[in-house]
Amino acid sequence: MSLVRKVHNLFLIERDRPELLVAQANAFSRQIPMLYAVLLANTVALSVTHFKSAPAFLTVVGPVLLALGCGGRLVRWWRLRDQALEPDQAFRLLRQTVWLSPVLGLLFTFWSLALYPYGDAYQRGHIAFFMGITVVACVFCLMHLRAAALIASMLVAGPMILFFAVSGERVFEAIAFNMLLAGGAMIIILQGHYREFSDLISSRTAVARQMEEARRLSEENDRLANLDSLTTLPNRRRFFREVDAYLARARTEARGLWVGVLDLDGFKPINDAFGHATGDRLLIEVGRRLEGFAPDRLFVARLGGDEFGLILDAGLNPAEAQAMGRELCALLRAPFDLPGIKAQVGASIGFCPFPDGGERATQLFERADYALYHAKQTLKGAAVLFDERHEATIRQHSRVERALAMADIEAEMRVVFQPIVDAPSGRTLAFEALARWRSPVEGDVPPGVFIDAAERSGQIVEITRVLVAKTLRTMHGWPMDLRVSINLSARDIASMDAVERLIEIVRQSRIAPHRIDFEITETGIVSDFEQARAALAAFKELGVRTVLDDFGTGHSSLSHVRLLPLDKLKVDASFVTDIESHQASQDIVKTVLQLCQNLRFDCVVEGVETEGQRDQVIALGGALMQGYLFARPMAAEAVPGYLTAETLKTLGRAEPSQAPGEHHAAQRAAS
Ligand code: C2E
Ligand code: CA
Ligand code: CA
Repeated sequence: MSLVRKVHNLFLIERDRPELLVAQANAFSRQIPMLYAVLLANTVALSVTHFKSAPAFLTVVGPVLLALGCGGRLVRWWRLRDQALEPDQAFRLLRQTVWLSPVLGLLFTFWSLALYPYGDAYQRGHIAFFMGITVVACVFCLMHLRAAALIASMLVAGPMILFFAVSGERVFEAIAFNMLLAGGAMIIILQGHYREFSDLISSRTAVARQMEEARRLSEENDRLANLDSLTTLPNRRRFFREVDAYLARARTEARGLWVGVLDLDGFKPINDAFGHATGDRLLIEVGRRLEGFAPDRLFVARLGGDEFGLILDAGLNPAEAQAMGRELCALLRAPFDLPGIKAQVGASIGFCPFPDGGERATQLFERADYALYHAKQTLKGAAVLFDERHEATIRQHSRVERALAMADIEAEMRVVFQPIVDAPSGRTLAFEALARWRSPVEGDVPPGVFIDAAERSGQIVEITRVLVAKTLRTMHGWPMDLRVSINLSARDIASMDAVERLIEIVRQSRIAPHRIDFEITETGIVSDFEQARAALAAFKELGVRTVLDDFGTGHSSLSHVRLLPLDKLKVDASFVTDIESHQASQDIVKTVLQLCQNLRFDCVVEGVETEGQRDQVIALGGALMQGYLFARPMAAEAVPGYLTAETLKTLGRAEPSQAPGEHHAAQRAAS
């Protein structure tokens, strides 16, 4: 950089650094009043010492004019002391100061030098002191604005040094020389100080920028962490935060709200058949419809999969909430125009009211989810409100869980037996063992309830072991060709350790393994397919046969049937209930029967209650059946009597002359 440019830069106001401008003006607003105060005091002092010797226009008029100028500036800067300045405003102020500094500097210099001829040696000494101290004050107080400090000090010190250097007085020549040295030193210090100040402001600005950037990034992270990336709706985390916030507001304003869970019906088949891209588009469209439904009253979030969270914040009564739920379901039933297809889905909703249905967000959500579960089970495509009946069921569940935790499984649980019959001949080939629990606290608890509870708590594994042992003990009194079918839960086959324990129980029972079937449901398989396959293989190796229970109700997939070492399927009772009137049920049962034939599986049709149903199943090609038509589940003690009666009946039909007891045995031995 050329010297000229360097010198030019010394006098520059750095307009392109707004933070520096503001910092300079701020520092100034504190220091400039001090400078003017010092100048004023010095001016008064100099006029007083020269009052008698110099003319009035120099000791009164001049100082008064100078004082007015300084006072005006002082007041102006004083007013700015605590103001937040804009960069432009700061620039204007600084520029004014730079322009004013030579004017004031020269005025003071001329005024003080004009007094010089009127005084004696002391008074002239005072003038030298006045000018020296003025230079010092200018440099220090204007330090933050290098240009002003340089101009003012040079315009005071320059003429003064010149003036004194040629004054012919030894003392003043010495003062001029001193002033030259001291001034030079001060300018060097000023330069260093100004650079430090300027660097400080730069680094402060850089730090502030970094902090701003960090804040922006963290805000962005926060936003992304609360957003569902597919639908751009709020996500699960944000949903729960919002429920908390809505609840807090509702509490202070003493009003109610509804927490809801919405789940699409029929989303999975579309996703499976048309691919994830189509599924994703569908979810985005669903999100859009929900979002646009009633933005001021309905908060919508995507919780995951095809599940959405709702907050209904309009103080609605149950009937109104139900109506709103209906509208939402209808909204989603309208077909979706997707690339290549027109997709149609439904929606089920569970709502739980605050405060009647619960106080806390998680509680409200669980109950809304519970209501949704009911909606899915019973009235697909509708909204269900959580109410006292659900509350009672939940209470019953937790009572059952408590009673089960304290139960003496061995003493309180027993097994009942329901025949599995070859319907055309009327002969019982096996019994299904079904669990019964009489709790000393709760009385008889239905298996659907306590098995669920035991599965949730993990006690099912122990219960199964007890029931299997009891069942196999009972079998010692049975004819040798009579088989048993025992239900296992998902947990019973969830580890090879548990499987080994069951195998050990079978071994110790001394009942031939080939007389035993283990029934598992599809839920037991889908949770961990590989483990299920390993467990079934271990059973097969032992000689026990395996049955897929409740076929057709779960996530039925033919691959399960094909890939697992199964021996038998059980067609769920729900297909039999309406088999006489519904062609669809007939078709399903027929298909499953044919499938079993092809795979060389046995097939048991469950829930046969009437002769009509039995005949229909026979007509479709089925033989093995189970149901109230043949017998309800019976106590172990009732089994021998039941078998005897059955033999009597068949014998009565076949050979009316033979003795019943023997024939029963004879017939079994022959088969
Ligand atoms: P499941 O394995 O499907 O058992 C058949 C259920 O249908 C039994 O109900 C039986 O009493 C009932 N049933 C039989 N014939 C008919 C009929 O004609 N009509 C109607 N409506 N129902 C019929 P239960 O004994 O109440 O058992 C219910 C469920 O509890 C069982 O369904 C099974 O999933 C589970 N369960 C029962 N005992 C055990 C067990 O020892 N271990 C395991 N893990 N689960 C068991
Ligand atoms: Ca079963
Ligand atoms: Ca079943």
